[in-house]
Amino acid sequence: TPALSIRNLSILYSGSSVSAVRDVSFELAQGEIACLLGPSGCGKTTLLRAIAGFLMPNQGTIALNGESASEPGRVRSPEKRNVGVVFQDYALFPHLSVRKNIEFGLHKRSEPEKRHRSGELLALIGLETLADRYPHELSGGQQQRVALARALAPKPTLILLDEPFSNLDVELKERLTFEVREILKAENMSAILVTHDQHEAFSMADRIGVMHAGELQQWGSSYSLYHQPNSRMVADFIGQGVFLPGKKTEQGLQIELAHLRLTEDQLPLNDEFDVLIRPDDIIHDDASPMQAIVVRKAFRGADFLYTLMLESGAHVLALVPSHHNHAIGEPIGIKLELDHVITFDRL
Ligand code: ADP
Ligand code: MG
Repeated sequence: TPALSIRNLSILYSGSSVSAVRDVSFELAQGEIACLLGPSGCGKTTLLRAIAGFLMPNQGTIALNGESASEPGRVRSPEKRNVGVVFQDYALFPHLSVRKNIEFGLHKRSEPEKRHRSGELLALIGLETLADRYPHELSGGQQQRVALARALAPKPTLILLDEPFSNLDVELKERLTFEVREILKAENMSAILVTHDQHEAFSMADRIGVMHAGELQQWGSSYSLYHQPNSRMVADFIGQGVFLPGKKTEQGLQIELAHLRLTEDQLPLNDEFDVLIRPDDIIHDDASPMQAIVVRKAFRGADFLYTLMLESGAHVLALVPSHHNHAIGEPIGIKLELDHVITFDRL
């Protein structure tokens, strides 16, 4: 049985005319970490609040470990869901020490058990020396780690994290995403992380759901979202790239950079379509007869991200190892290496 199963969920705030969440369905396997990824206002927090039980959906069902948690007219209260939550506004109890905050959800356990578990978690979040401090004596990042430890303490069946790293500096954030993933995996915890940061999603998640305007656009591995986006929106939102206009030919399709051999069933139905070209599809090759002009370059350490102008004036992006340092305005040889062809109807 999946840890979480959501079917046709819709949520409409009273007084609002559009649903904040619209007909969302997905399943999360036991021990799997998923990310809900999407721009601000797309409904991520609303969806999490419904899973936690703080919001009643207008339509659809939520099941936790195969047991109904929410269906029309029958909703289980948040306390009875065994779901741990870390929200953006990680409200710690101000009158309780760090240790007592972590032990808060362990009220049914004996004192030595509580002490053992909070000790484990303090070590995990690297705050052993601050166990007796109060929340106002901690930095934002430290408070966030305590909130995380507090949610993990009772070993919930599902943990929900709503942009838990958004107040942390980049380095700490990178370390923490990695650590949190390891902790969740070690405890075989099922989790949903909400973020608007795709790098965070990529390094954290087994599975990613891309949300847009209340709808779940695509649910899949990071690899499949990048390489098989099912919509222009997902193609745009995940990774970088451009769309080049394509034309059907006898044996496939023609774009400015190449002729691509395709079988009938690989061709788009529509005659008006664009082909997705990612920066890693363009290979810099001095021997190639095809030239493009460098119009912009961004040094990224190991590589340059070049913006290149093709003969038609269309731009493409190219990732090139950084020892190939070309000047703006310089023509360079390129070739296209497309592993799979992704097309979308012309807008
Ligand atoms: P996200 O977490 O992805 O930024 P939210 O779930 O917070 O998005 O919001 C989704 C939509 O619902 C937004 O349009 C937001 O304005 C609206 N919304 C959020 N909370 C409320 C509320 N309490 N009452 C009415 N509308 C809300
Ligand atoms: Mg939010």
